[in-house]
Amino acid sequence: MPDQPLLVSALQLVDGLGGPPVQDAGVLAGTDGTITWAGPLTEVPALPENCRHITMPGTLLPGFIDTHVHLGLPGGGLNAAMLLIEPPPVRVLKIAAAMRATLEAGVTTVRDLGFLGPSLAKMATTGATPAPRLLNAIAMLSGTGGHGDFPLPHAIDQAELFRVLDLRLAVADGPTEVTKAVRELIRDGAQVIKVAASGGISTPADTPDDIGLTLEELRAAVEAAQGRGRTVAAHAIGTEGIALAVEAGVHSIEHGNGLTPGLADRMARQGTFLVPTLAVMEQTGDPAVMGHHAHAKAGRWREATEKALPTAIGAGVRIATGTDAGLGIRHGQNLSELSLLVQAGLSAMDAIVAGTRTAAEVCSLGDRIGTVEPGKLADLVVVAGDPLADITLLRDPANITLVVQEGRVVKHPESAH
Ligand SMILES: [Zn+2]
Repeated sequence: MPDQPLLVSALQLVDGLGGPPVQDAGVLAGTDGTITWAGPLTEVPALPENCRHITMPGTLLPGFIDTHVHLGLPGGGLNAAMLLIEPPPVRVLKIAAAMRATLEAGVTTVRDLGFLGPSLAKMATTGATPAPRLLNAIAMLSGTGGHGDFPLPHAIDQAELFRVLDLRLAVADGPTEVTKAVRELIRDGAQVIKVAASGGISTPADTPDDIGLTLEELRAAVEAAQGRGRTVAAHAIGTEGIALAVEAGVHSIEHGNGLTPGLADRMARQGTFLVPTLAVMEQTGDPAVMGHHAHAKAGRWREATEKALPTAIGAGVRIATGTDAGLGIRHGQNLSELSLLVQAGLSAMDAIVAGTRTAAEVCSLGDRIGTVEPGKLADLVVVAGDPLADITLLRDPANITLVVQEGRVVKHPESAH
């Protein structure tokens, strides 16, 4: 809880609702960490006693949300061997640094969709390090040999390795095993369920054209998750995997490269979210970052995305920001996704809504975060300049000059390090 009320004022407020910005605006947050007032400064109410006032040049926005990260993966070049030989204390410190870099880039909430075990995820909630609010999937549920069940060198004892790295394997075949695996993940602290509905680009033993789980298995995952108040995020690149996941009623399609007009219409009708992860697709263009096998596989899917995004936008699919940060893309580069969404056809305002209000809905937190409105949690960001005029400003974390999380200032120009 913050120890004093806070008024942040800036040149303009973009509240995440998509309407025109408010000039010379302010946001008032109470000591309970929620927003009590937002609007033009000419209408600011009488300030509470002991109120801290921060005036910033630039644009005030809701804290951004990245609905697809992997804090347990290093970012930059993905080298599995490096991960295997890393001493556990180094891994802990790197994950703490990833959490901090993400928060200081203006991302106050993330959904981690695999490779972050329950013990390491606790770093984000115990105050051990500055960190975004975290919804954790723990692992990606996969069929045997699927995208979440990649082969390791024979000399490696997988059980021992996973124990040391605080990783979980969630491999299940058949609806009964899938149901059990979902329940086990929830028992261990999963707040969202990630499934591999298709094969992948970064794994050597499968391809995006492969189906990851059958329709019956996907339905079992959705039913088991919904029964305990969780949603299902489906990794789905190829058309067939997307089709099965949409049919099974998943909450969000991650990647969605092989989207067709028919599937886009269906997603729009059902309210299925699309998280296109353009940032990681951009990274697959560089064989040095993602590895040669991934580079070779990715080309066709990058081209597919160029068609899929306009199709999704035209059909009215709800699109949210997610980057795959940790896989190729570095932690803290999360907001590069907004520039890529604008390149794909969204307006700057719609990209901001994708990164705030819609992303909050993907996290099932639409009533708590994602917009600057009285009653919501005071997660706020100030960007130097006007992102509506130049969305690429968000690419550089140095342009994020103030970050407030539940009414507490967690990044301020005077505390820069
Ligand atoms: Zn991912």
